[in-house]
Amino acid sequence: MKRVPISIIIDDPSPVLSVYYTHHKTGKTDDGREVIEYFPNSFLDEFCDIVRDYGIKGKFSVVPCPGNRGDIVNGIEGVSMEDMKAWLDTVKKYIVPNFGIGPEMLTHNKAVDLATGKALPMREVEWSQTQDRTTLTPYITKALSILKEAGFDCCGVTSPWHFGIDVEDEYTISISKAVYDVYGKKNAWYFLRGLRDTPNAKPWVALEEDGRTLVSVPATTRDRIWQTIHCTDTSEEYISRVADELITKDGKEGEIIRVLETGGYPILITHWQSLASNGLFTGVKVLREVAKRIEDNLSDRVEWMSVEEIMEMVIADKESYPKR
Ligand SMILES: [Zn+2]
Repeated sequence: MKRVPISIIIDDPSPVLSVYYTHHKTGKTDDGREVIEYFPNSFLDEFCDIVRDYGIKGKFSVVPCPGNRGDIVNGIEGVSMEDMKAWLDTVKKYIVPNFGIGPEMLTHNKAVDLATGKALPMREVEWSQTQDRTTLTPYITKALSILKEAGFDCCGVTSPWHFGIDVEDEYTISISKAVYDVYGKKNAWYFLRGLRDTPNAKPWVALEEDGRTLVSVPATTRDRIWQTIHCTDTSEEYISRVADELITKDGKEGEIIRVLETGGYPILITHWQSLASNGLFTGVKVLREVAKRIEDNLSDRVEWMSVEEIMEMVIADKESYPKR
């Protein structure tokens, strides 16, 4: 029997600096602790160990200008060049082989005036909803160009929050064109939509234009690990309970199982700050447990695929993945 693709979307990583901190409205977790500003590189190492141990694959964002505090080529305010470079090198060495890398627009915070490089008063998500291809294409081109300069090979982008959702037709045209302009690639992917509690949840062909194809890769589960940001419990029981929401130890229940039972592909989602759990790193332990349970229970049913492998699979069999 052919195995079903499984994948994981990792939103919001950037070198050392937490973009979640930069855009957080109150600066406090729900249980009243200060939101932490930086994640140590040892946290990235811990994530890489899980990638190596379980062969997990998916999508990994690199925010090019995190929080309007510089960029990943010239330096990020508050982060040493040494730490930034070490972070980028680790991503290239251990994450790139298993994950499609892409920008999550420029800042994941305030939109940028491309002419001056200065922050506009509104967030990227608000700015995007009134734009069209004439402004979105250069914006996405800029984001991809910074990743290219930093040494990443990309063919897709992630939407910070619900970037571009009100102008999705213009947005998709812009993504496809920007990927072609920067990397010369005709096939691209993007992540914007979630398909939760939806039967047959799968990616789809979102655009075909001028010989180029764009695939929409949706998240088909919720970020169950997010709750660890707001909780100081780091016990084994807690870790197991959070993991249960995705897959129980016996592999019989959980959101991953429900997606499979309704004919869909489990495309998990979490955030860099979810895995960091506001400095307690409970989230990475949950991810390790989930990866182990998938291996223990589903290795004959599912196969880890990167977002680029999913994109290629969809493009090779377009009729099976109609636009939703
Ligand atoms: Zn995000």
